[in-house]
Amino acid sequence: MVIPLSVVALLIALDRPSSRPAPRPSGSSETSTEPTARPSRRPPPPSPDSDAAYAFTFVHDDGHPVRWNPCAPIRYVVNLDGAPTSALPDITEAFARLTAATGINAEYDGPTDEVPTAAREPYQSERYGDEWAPVLIAWVGADETDIAFEESTSGAASPTAVRKRSDGELVYVTGEVALNTGNDHGSGFDTADSWGVVILHELGHIVGLAHVDDRAQLMYRESSEGVVAFAAGDTAGLRQLGREAGCLTTPAPTEVDLEVIETPA
Ligand SMILES: [Zn+2]
Repeated sequence: MVIPLSVVALLIALDRPSSRPAPRPSGSSETSTEPTARPSRRPPPPSPDSDAAYAFTFVHDDGHPVRWNPCAPIRYVVNLDGAPTSALPDITEAFARLTAATGINAEYDGPTDEVPTAAREPYQSERYGDEWAPVLIAWVGADETDIAFEESTSGAASPTAVRKRSDGELVYVTGEVALNTGNDHGSGFDTADSWGVVILHELGHIVGLAHVDDRAQLMYRESSEGVVAFAAGDTAGLRQLGREAGCLTTPAPTEVDLEVIETPA
């Protein structure tokens, strides 16, 4: 059975011609006196490697991928309302597999009642304190969120990057994974349509991988029979997003020269 896992917005991004030159940063000449800059609706260019066995959602002008700081844990929260009983074990195991592939650790900050939205605030001090909001993982129905779920879509994921206007460097600071309660999957990682495998694919998006056209990779836009783990191409891409590529500095949410780049979910 084929189950589309794709994020519509990412598909649109990947459909762009691969030879398109990277546009200039849209906010580079702006200044802001607000603690957190207004969100920009214009994402950076997609990776030019969408025909390869791996692809990056966002790349800098010189081609290197936008990343998390791999030397700090990715913090996450889970909305267990509507989640299957296997939710936490599957998420924990998926993050363990992501850590094995990237060297990036993950840290569970506990449950939340936050519901995924298309324009999620990356900084929510009242809910999450004086840090970037953790990655949100939640099961929702199509009528519970403004994220555009196709009926057959099992999940949608989007990372959020910020750009320091002073040096133009982008870094991921948070993200969200919305899983469709309307789709009934089994637990674990044994089959391509298991929740664990769906979550692992979405976590690939969270750390910066985009879809590829190779059905043998977990980052193919749909689940492929027998593909239940990151394959060689996925792993090659993940290495470039992880610890091997070196540490980054994550700006604090209160810094004044930030531009928030949201991937539409
Ligand atoms: Zn996907």
